[in-house]
Amino acid sequence: FALNKKHPEPRMFTPHAELKSSYDVVIIGGGGHGLAAAYYLAREHGITNVCVLEKGYIGGGNTGRNTTIIRSNYLTPEGVQFYDESVRLWQDLSQDFDLNLFYANRGHFTLAHTDAALRTMRWRAEVNKHYGVASEVVGPEVVKEAAPMIDITCGGHAPILGALYHAPGSVARHDAVAWGYGRGADQRGVEIHQQTEVLGIDVQGGKVKGVQTSRGYIATGKVLCAVAGSTPRILKMVDIKSPIYIHPLQAMVSEPVKPWLDPILVSGSLHVYISQSARGELVMGASLDPYELHGTRSTLDFVEGLTTHMLEMFPFLSNVKVMRQWAGMADMTPDFAPVMGKTPVEGFYLDSGWGTWGFKATPVCGKTMAHTVATDTTHPLITGFSLDRFRNYALTGEKGAASVGH
Ligand code: FAD
Repeated sequence: FALNKKHPEPRMFTPHAELKSSYDVVIIGGGGHGLAAAYYLAREHGITNVCVLEKGYIGGGNTGRNTTIIRSNYLTPEGVQFYDESVRLWQDLSQDFDLNLFYANRGHFTLAHTDAALRTMRWRAEVNKHYGVASEVVGPEVVKEAAPMIDITCGGHAPILGALYHAPGSVARHDAVAWGYGRGADQRGVEIHQQTEVLGIDVQGGKVKGVQTSRGYIATGKVLCAVAGSTPRILKMVDIKSPIYIHPLQAMVSEPVKPWLDPILVSGSLHVYISQSARGELVMGASLDPYELHGTRSTLDFVEGLTTHMLEMFPFLSNVKVMRQWAGMADMTPDFAPVMGKTPVEGFYLDSGWGTWGFKATPVCGKTMAHTVATDTTHPLITGFSLDRFRNYALTGEKGAASVGH
């Protein structure tokens, strides 16, 4: 037996034994956002002397823990245009990467169980249509037609009165997104260093000079922070205050069952969202845990609460087993919009405030942050998400479109 040792290329990434002493750009965080920024820095700006530092393994943060819902039916003009651009980018990504992301366009229903919820949906539908995003309010009969197994009265507790239907709503395989961006960046010369934690940031005279890591010091003039649930820790290193706070967000999957659910369903009132993955598992999530915690433990309380509401919608699932549960650390903002762009520290750029809604934004974040870092000019699509909006009382209020319904 002869082992084939002649693979011409590494299967995914080139391993690098050593860190260089300096890079043009250091990206902290090997989640989808950090890797996407590295990819577009190399592909669109020709900046390849870049390293991505990841304290664990790539995609091991919220990128590999989310429920993969992709949509653009937000509430504010800033949000709708930004996420719409992301949805456009998603559609070509498998092709771009030559890697199957299992991107599946399913259609997305946000269910309304009250008149107040219907009113917000009409508002969202009008804003969406104004910006050319397919979004419309539909009656309960359309929901029943799309998901025939649903109990439209939800056990008689919370009858479905209508829904916001968003045809572009999709799901994708989340870890493949990190691998695709990582491999694409690697092929263009970016270095990815896993098991490498940033412990400090060297700022002198208000400018970034380097980063201290668990494997030594790196000199650099530009640092992009893309660490989601660890954002407050990194911001402490550069002495920047932000209103970001961390809450756990949990999710779970069932055992695989035959395909029976095509669309993605979200109920803000029952705190449930559900889709069926390509391999038949029901992917289910709920709202945030109601307390601040920097940790990823998952609870029995969560499973009990979520399954109760699931059974109100789909009583026939009572014998289906829950297979896995987990949590991520959601970096929440007071207005439920992200925090992106330049900061008061020269050379320190921020991609954060991704709370429960940042997976769908991965491609557009990569593109807009790469532009911002490369040119030191804020990309026009992210001006509404600047950190100083909190000081200027100019919030971008997305709560009506961001909470529960990813
Ligand atoms: P991450 O993927 O968390 O990557 C950050 C990385 O930084 C981590 O890998 C971490 O290890 C690393 N890091 C941290 N500190 C350091 C350090 N000091 N040095 C080096 N590396 C460091 N969004 C949607 O759009 N749709 C959804 O359906 C959806 N569902 C969700 C469900 C759950 C349960 C959760 C938790 C989140 C959900 N989200 C969803 C949100 C989405 O997952 C995140 O907003 C998004 O993945 C953030 O990506 P990221 O690359 O910024 O962060």
